[in-house]
Amino acid sequence: MIALSLAEIADITGGQSHDIPDPAVQVTGSVVIDSRQVGPGSLFAAFAGENVDGHDYAQRAVDAGAVAVLATRPVGVPAIVVDDVQTALGALARAVVRRLGTTVVALTGSAGKTSTKDLIAQVLQHKGPTVWTPGSLNNEIGLPLTALRAEKDTEHLVLEMGARGIGHIRYLAELTPPTIGLVLNVGSAHIGEFGGREQIAQAKGEMVEALPAAEAGGIAVLNADDPLVRAMHTRTHARVTLFGEADDAAVRAENVRLTETGQPSFRLHTPTGCSDVTLRLYGEHHVSNALAAAAVAHELGMSVDEIATALSGAGTLSRWRMEVTERPDGVTIVNDAYNANPESMRAALRALAAMGKAAQAKGGRTWAVLGQMAELGDEALAEHDAVGRLAVRLNVSKLVAVGGREASWLQLGAYNEGSWGEESVHVSDARAAIDLLRSELRPGDVVLVKASRSVGLERIATALLEGT
Ligand code: ATP
Ligand code: MG
Repeated sequence: MIALSLAEIADITGGQSHDIPDPAVQVTGSVVIDSRQVGPGSLFAAFAGENVDGHDYAQRAVDAGAVAVLATRPVGVPAIVVDDVQTALGALARAVVRRLGTTVVALTGSAGKTSTKDLIAQVLQHKGPTVWTPGSLNNEIGLPLTALRAEKDTEHLVLEMGARGIGHIRYLAELTPPTIGLVLNVGSAHIGEFGGREQIAQAKGEMVEALPAAEAGGIAVLNADDPLVRAMHTRTHARVTLFGEADDAAVRAENVRLTETGQPSFRLHTPTGCSDVTLRLYGEHHVSNALAAAAVAHELGMSVDEIATALSGAGTLSRWRMEVTERPDGVTIVNDAYNANPESMRAALRALAAMGKAAQAKGGRTWAVLGQMAELGDEALAEHDAVGRLAVRLNVSKLVAVGGREASWLQLGAYNEGSWGEESVHVSDARAAIDLLRSELRPGDVVLVKASRSVGLERIATALLEGT
């Protein structure tokens, strides 16, 4: 981060200095909340969690090189004592972003935030130094920590913003006010907590409400193909630009197809011209994510050829998202176990089907190893049933439903759609799935592993990759 003196930090956060011999000493390293990540010049922010209290690690942090601790009580080492560490971090992030004048690109949506954030970051890096959210650190702590990683020469800050309720995006957007705000989609992720799609749209739309007016440079980048996102144009004074398949989208894709390996290829249209793109990512859903990234890059002045080249070279930056690995024995594992919701389940199944076509022609089989999609509320049964049915319609060879009640609904869908009997199996847990797959898999097979985060199905992918 940019160098800030302890006196400045106390001033920005409204904190009291304790045990600080020299307030002119500067924080020059990163701001961290885990004492194991402290390096020379760090500021250690002490959070009190349920099991661990960061305050107990203050001495350790200073021993490891921290200049001071941001804390809620004196800790016997140099500390800036504040009422609330999260609020103080937010204030710091806000001050740093304002001081740097970096262009903030913020994005939200129900599915694809991390994938799209990674694409945007990789494309914008071709234009200038870019700092982005690592993984999915998109909440009220992860966001300021990311913003505080910005350096003097950082031109773009690409920030994923997550919402679990009304007011969340508004809060995050106040910490790091975006110039460009992107909304990807309104799906059913966390629908149980929100209460319905309209409420989700209400919460995500706070992104465009937070943008500066068009005259002041605010740009809202909206998905033309998602009616609830498109409707957000009424909630902003920023200039609106659309991406998607719709005719009025400024950034569009034509001739979308999946290559034999399941990678999407298309002709990218922007207001300044066209160029061909083949993504290195798997699954059709990434076309929409790539268009969103292209729209942002176009708004920041990149040419269509620059954008197409950058997109075609962009890979996965975050773990367990359609990570494709071929084992030495010719079995391919597609690890998409990071998370799942109905939209992403469908997208992943379609990708599996595309990848499996070539495999099936040679006698290989496609396996959908699926677990629960969490937080669906009243829609849980219908959504799991629909995914089971889709597996049949896409001609997936085998469905392995892993877990409890929801897994039985997946299997039931497959049964109802295609009278599937032995093509689908229901196992109680990851262990049972691993045992089954180990004895059944043969060269040429393609295995998709996917469920909500809480199910932790990456265990299956890891076991299948390491156990060969
Ligand atoms: P989280 O809320 O957990 O941070 P996220 O919005 O960051 O999720 P990703 O991590 O990019 O989303 O992707 C989550 C899942 O959604 C993955 O399985 C991915 O394949 C799928 N996905 C990615 N983009 C889309 C999209 N545009 N539409 C539907 N599904 C998508
Ligand atoms: Mg994410």
